[in-house]
Amino acid sequence: MGQKMKEEKFYEYEELSEAYYKCKRCGKSDSSIKFAFFPYVVSILVLSFRRAWSGVFCEECRKKEMLKAKLISLLLGWWGIPWGVIWTIKVLFFESNEGIIPEPNFPYLILSQISDKQIYEEYLKNK
Ligand SMILES: [Zn+2]
Repeated sequence: MGQKMKEEKFYEYEELSEAYYKCKRCGKSDSSIKFAFFPYVVSILVLSFRRAWSGVFCEECRKKEMLKAKLISLLLGWWGIPWGVIWTIKVLFFESNEGIIPEPNFPYLILSQISDKQIYEEYLKNK
C-alpha cells in the first residue's frame, strides 16, 4: 500500500516536470528552457500598474515574449506620472531581452501553480 502511494506520487511529479520543461510557445525542449517573467507597465490616467506574465520558454521565445512586453509598455506605460514613466524606462532599457530569469530557477517552476500576479509581486518584494 505504502509503496503504491509512493509510485503514484512519483508519476505525478514526472508528468509535472515534463510539462514544465517544454517551451510554452513552441513546444521545444532543450537546455535553454527556463522560467521567466515578462514585466510590462500599463497606465490609466494617473495610475500606473506594474504587471508580468510568466512561463517556461526557450531562449528564442523568451526574446519574443519580452519584445511583446516592451511593446505593451511603450504603448500603454508612459501616461502615468511619475511611476508610469520610471517603470516604462526600466522595462524598455534595463530589463534583459529575455525577460527576468529568477535565480535559482527551479522553485519558481513549482510556484507557477499560483497566478502570474502573485509570483511577480513576490519577486518584487524579495528583490
Ligand atoms: Zn520556444
